[in-house]
Amino acid sequence: MEKIYGIDLGTTNSCISVLEGGKPVTIPVDGSGIVPSVVSLDGKNMLVGRKAWNRAAAFPRQSIRSVKRLMGTTEELTLGDKSYEPEDISAMILRYLCDEAHRIGGHEVERVVITVPAYFSDAQRRSTMEAGKRAGLTVERIINEPTAAALFYDHVRASSGDASAKDGSAGGRYSLVYDLGGGTFDVSILQMGDIIEVLASTGDTHLGGDDFDNRIVTRILEQIREKDGLNLEDHLPALARLRAVAENAKIALSRKASVWIEETHIPAPRGKNCTVSMELSREAFEDLTEDLVERTITSVEQAMQEARLAPGQIGRVLLVGGMTRMPIIPARLEKIFGAAQMPAVDPDLSVANGAAIQGGIISGENCEQILVDVTPHTLSLKTLSYAGERLFDCVPIIPRNTQIPVTRARTFHTVVRHQELVQLQVYQGESPEPEGNTLIGMTDLKLAKAEANCPIIVEYSYDLNGIVHLVGEQKGYSRKTELRIDSRNPELFGSQDLTEIEDGEDEDESAEGNSEDAGSAVNFVTQRARTLIAGMEAGEARDLLSSLLVRYEEALRDGGDEGDVDEIEDELLSLMEDGVEEDEEDDEEE
Ligand code: ADP
Ligand code: MG
Repeated sequence: MEKIYGIDLGTTNSCISVLEGGKPVTIPVDGSGIVPSVVSLDGKNMLVGRKAWNRAAAFPRQSIRSVKRLMGTTEELTLGDKSYEPEDISAMILRYLCDEAHRIGGHEVERVVITVPAYFSDAQRRSTMEAGKRAGLTVERIINEPTAAALFYDHVRASSGDASAKDGSAGGRYSLVYDLGGGTFDVSILQMGDIIEVLASTGDTHLGGDDFDNRIVTRILEQIREKDGLNLEDHLPALARLRAVAENAKIALSRKASVWIEETHIPAPRGKNCTVSMELSREAFEDLTEDLVERTITSVEQAMQEARLAPGQIGRVLLVGGMTRMPIIPARLEKIFGAAQMPAVDPDLSVANGAAIQGGIISGENCEQILVDVTPHTLSLKTLSYAGERLFDCVPIIPRNTQIPVTRARTFHTVVRHQELVQLQVYQGESPEPEGNTLIGMTDLKLAKAEANCPIIVEYSYDLNGIVHLVGEQKGYSRKTELRIDSRNPELFGSQDLTEIEDGEDEDESAEGNSEDAGSAVNFVTQRARTLIAGMEAGEARDLLSSLLVRYEEALRDGGDEGDVDEIEDELLSLMEDGVEEDEEDDEEE
């Protein structure tokens, strides 16, 4: 049977595991199995892993680290005379892991499960899948790192004969996974049992060990500035060297109460060298980084709120990621969760091992555990707002933390008679305002001629890999559009992937024609907005709103001058505000 390997593609370190006789085993790539996610160009050779890491401090310009932070972006990376996309660099790391696993284990690696932070956006997940493809791999599944870790902990408990592992009574039904790695922080709350259910997951894709290292770097830079009057803030070779020094100090402080930072060869501009010698106590380090730790605690509290759980209900706190070896982390968590169990399992390997278990489940090797995952972000549709404060709202279609796979639909309504099209804009994020969220895709649905308030059904699906599909349909007219989202190329939105399915039955071909009275407002109103518009006494107000909308959209589309757009917007807002007031008065009368 062809095995499916589990890969933890980390910001700082990566790891590959596979099931052997029903047990996950980490393949000792680069000795320990903890493989730095670094590539470095040495002449014509592209080094990956530990060798690249060794070279990176001395040759930062020929090296790339923390590429995971760039996944989902279109940033170009240069090595030598070639430029690369983030996916290419991640593909090199994946390829290296698989080649080494082949060399060590003797089996070719083709099928993989790759983990991502639960907080990763759609673009970042797609980008990760793309990296797998570029590495020549079949990516069977993308799963969330905390979920993988919990799968592994659960497996360890079950196979160690812990009777409470499955029924969840003694160990507590709920586990919290706290994962602080090199570049990302994740916290998830899981309900343990025959099914592992993710009740909540949140975090920060820009918070991790690098930030802690940078605090020490800043401290050293201060000392150099005071001592030598040198400002090395923008001197890349010095920074690369100091980051390595800082990381070593941080790691040492997990074991020791104090360290001496001694460095005699810090490269300075014009070929100079400078030195640093300072003592850093664990206490001082904890002071320097207290706010970072507190940021993780805020996320923990947020996750608890989302799961509607009190700390006393958490039976286990699972620590994942190299940074959780810092004593402050378990200490701080213990303040909140009291005597919750923190099992002593290697925080570096559990994610890859969990991914290998998931691989076994897919290939049919181990079917005991079923995995239920959740959506990390709310997916909403931009609609015309009913309230006066802003013109547009994001109306949620799939709320965050909904179990996946999921398909949800909602009905919206057109604004004007003979509206030509509606623009379906998919937003990701928790804000009610579009500006506060990320636009991840958009498409147009061309409409058949119809009266105003024509129902439009919008259906979103979120698949097992956390990827988004959209279907929009004009009800009763068989006009449909589907969207595959490539959120990494936002400039292509709207023009691509538009498929129209027409059955022609109730199709009025002339609807395509440019009739004079065809409204071309490209927005939706929600059910509430529809009521508001329909409830207006005079046809006049409603017509005014319609024509204003048409003008507004035209001005926006033609890139009309700002003053113009603003003016129409103001008019629209005041009209809608009046509408709301009317509505409220009606309510009072009743
Ligand atoms: P990622 O999942 O982002 O790849 P890891 O889980 O491998 O990251 O964690 C890497 C981070 O953990 C780095 O910032 C590293 O410096 C830090 N780290 C590793 N070991 C220790 C330790 N003993 N004490 C403190 N930090 C550590
Ligand atoms: Mg990790």
